[in-house]
Amino acid sequence: MKIVSQTVTHIPQPTENHAEWLEKIGRVCYKSEDKITAGSAEKFLNMLVSNGHTSVLEHLYFTVMYGYGSLHSVYFRHDGDKVISGNVRTIYEAYKSNGRKIDIDIPTIIQLYSGSHIQMSDMIHSAETFHIVTDRATSHELVRHRTASISMESQRYCVYSKDKFGGEVTFIQPIGMIEGEFSQSEWKKICENTERSYFALLRGNKPEIARSVLPNSTKTELYMTCRLKDWKHFLDLRLSPKAAPQIRNIAEKIQIVLKEKYPEFSDNVYRNE
Ligand SMILES: Cc1cc2nc3c(=O)[nH]c(=O)nc-3n(C[C@H](O)[C@H](O)[C@H](O)COP(=O)(O)OP(=O)(O)OC[C@H]3O[C@@H](n4cnc5c(N)ncnc54)[C@H](O)[C@@H]3O)c2cc1C
Repeated sequence: MKIVSQTVTHIPQPTENHAEWLEKIGRVCYKSEDKITAGSAEKFLNMLVSNGHTSVLEHLYFTVMYGYGSLHSVYFRHDGDKVISGNVRTIYEAYKSNGRKIDIDIPTIIQLYSGSHIQMSDMIHSAETFHIVTDRATSHELVRHRTASISMESQRYCVYSKDKFGGEVTFIQPIGMIEGEFSQSEWKKICENTERSYFALLRGNKPEIARSVLPNSTKTELYMTCRLKDWKHFLDLRLSPKAAPQIRNIAEKIQIVLKEKYPEFSDNVYRNE
């Protein structure tokens, strides 16, 4: 068994190689980043769509002028200098809605919209993505934020006895655990025991059954994308001392990045200290 600390890393929206950026995010579900090759992105993204796993497409945002013109048969009305933004899933579903039968795939959408994308920096049109390594209890709190787009390591597809996971289960060091030999050793003992049970269950059972014994402290890994207005709401709730220490630590790390980039995150996030 391995014990690691929680981490939060900012992953800026891409300015080039958009499909590859999205592929890397989608592959976290399967922890199959080792399968990335030149040209694998297009195949991978189309595979996600054919499997109905289109939520991954939500991480990539485009903003385009809302004027007269067309982008591959989608026409925009002339309406001053207004812009319209959406993620790749929204755009894909817009093509498919209203019974239209437009044959377009994800790589084509990415190619068309990345060429017309306008860099914005406001609460509505800008989105930011973070890579978060945390425990399964905290990931459950993160996924409660319904306006966020999240792609997360799956315990159905990831089999921790395999070499690529080091043949061991990884656990996250809990933040806020009472200092002292007893707490630490009890917690470690339980992690070791559950790892043993998990490996025992894997003999003859699918990972989706074996995972049932893994505890809340089990490490997971996810990408989380929100428009800025939704990050603000997230921070309002999760920077509060009422929030659990583990998710509060994530919120603090996200706030540091967003504060640096956008004035809106400087002082108006609720902190009851
Ligand atoms: C300190 C703390 C303790 C908590 N304890 C618990 C607990 O004990 N049990 C528990 O189950 N959860 C708990 N939660 C989770 C909480 O109930 C919310 O699920 C979570 O914080 C997401 O908040 P949200 O719904 O405002 O945000 P989001 O889901 O991100 O939604 C953002 C906004 O979109 C709008 N919205 C989204 N979906 C809908 C909808 N279907 N209908 C109407 N408006 C919508 C709302 O305006 C909402 O504020 C806790 C959260 C905190 C911060």
